[in-house]
Amino acid sequence: MKFKQASWASDACLEPLVFELSRANRTGYTLPQKKLPEVNIPENLARTKLELPELSEPEIVRHYTRLSQMNYGVDSGFYPLGSCTMKYNPKICEELAALETASCIHPYQDEDTVQGALELMYKLERCLTEIAGVARVCLHPSAGAHGEFLGMLLTRAYHKSRGKESKEVIVPDSAHGTNFASAAMAGFDVIVVPSNSRGRVDIEALRKAVSKKTAALMLTNPNTLGLFEDEILEIAEAVHKVGGLLYYDGANLNGILGKTRPGDMGFDIVHFNLHKTFSTPHGGGGPGSGPIGVSRKLEKFLPVPVIEYNKKRRRYYLDYNRPQSVGKIKAFYGNFGVLVKAYAYILLMGANGLQEITEAAVLNANYITRKLQGVEGYELKFDASGPCKHEVVFSVEPMKKNYGVKAHFIAKRLLDFGVHAPTYYFPPIVPEALMIEPTETETKEELDRFIAAMKEIAEEAKSHPDKLLAAPTATAIGRLDEAKASREPILSWRMYRKLPSKI
Ligand SMILES: *Cc1c(COP(=O)(O)O)cnc(C)c1O
Repeated sequence: MKFKQASWASDACLEPLVFELSRANRTGYTLPQKKLPEVNIPENLARTKLELPELSEPEIVRHYTRLSQMNYGVDSGFYPLGSCTMKYNPKICEELAALETASCIHPYQDEDTVQGALELMYKLERCLTEIAGVARVCLHPSAGAHGEFLGMLLTRAYHKSRGKESKEVIVPDSAHGTNFASAAMAGFDVIVVPSNSRGRVDIEALRKAVSKKTAALMLTNPNTLGLFEDEILEIAEAVHKVGGLLYYDGANLNGILGKTRPGDMGFDIVHFNLHKTFSTPHGGGGPGSGPIGVSRKLEKFLPVPVIEYNKKRRRYYLDYNRPQSVGKIKAFYGNFGVLVKAYAYILLMGANGLQEITEAAVLNANYITRKLQGVEGYELKFDASGPCKHEVVFSVEPMKKNYGVKAHFIAKRLLDFGVHAPTYYFPPIVPEALMIEPTETETKEELDRFIAAMKEIAEEAKSHPDKLLAAPTATAIGRLDEAKASREPILSWRMYRKLPSKI
């Protein structure tokens, strides 16, 4: 079980602020007494009061250790946050990214001195090209959403170069919110197409929605219900027929790695979430990376610089001379540390390993589906006859109707079982949705523990719905007022200290 609270901490405040632990003149470190020259600091720049906490070294270590234990991460336990692919991040990848040769170089260094870094990025591009079945990859974007935005800029540049005024981007109603936002930010009008009773794109509605105004269709496959769009070839044909492009939201790549490729399905642009599929820490764990892959016809529009290899001189170099490029979308060449981890991970897994990832991720999701299917309160809204891919979406609408228990009550109660909450209320087409993505890195015992917790909570919904209302009770901080948390955020220790009563 997790660290709860220090015995001396009051109920109102679990871990005091470092300033509250501070005592005047207590020190953690003493500088050697060296004679230093006097300097004259202009009066307006000299500080008279330094507001720094004063603590001993063990106090500091214990304070931060306690804070770290109040947190929850992939290294603490099961984290089935659907769509986010919270798999375990191998520590060897961290070690490699921390090597001096990877972490102590600077993008302004001469190309000749960073050939290894350029080679790594070039080879990572080649791996991703092969994995997605595209012609070329660009590593610049910082996250999936950033990749989407770049994809939309490329779409605009492509149509413009052909003298076409294509203003509309089609997005299915099950799509991630960033799809709508990326298309709108790039200046497109967003057209929404509904899903059919099988939870897939309604192809008849799509055929009606496409026209010569269609710039692109944005789609993820498997979709956000964890279901494979089995009419993808017909979908691609409908969009291509009117001259539109097909954009692949790669957040769900963990469901198809090594089995099929977006390029083979007809997609023209693909983004990767290296921090999801390729196992680099995300959420609170670090920066992301959202490379983008494109088909041959879009290559010339990619941002600068592009990494190239001069065979004769056996030298990697950065090519800025690309007249049709959409320009720069990020400083330098992407989040390099993340790229190192992702490349290490791909080499670690190998081609067979990448396939096994998907096999285990899909098996795990189907195991949970079959074990919870039929448990009173958890309902599958769409065609549940076939297997799902790497994630499953249950609706707890029956629980809400019968006992007033909503999806987020269950999410919060799960925290008391030492499990991170699944994604809830997404995708929006499922009422009271709980979106569960176990990933491939979990054992059967861990899945069984989760399933047992879900069953126990379903029982509680009937017998003690009050327990669900009060949850979580085993975490450092209990139930928060969510509306207040977003309307009156407490963003600094100064604001926290001024609160009349602590959280
Ligand atoms: C995570 C996610 C995104 C956005 O990716 P970020 O890296 O978080 O910006 C887009 N679409 C889907 C389906 C996602 O799950």
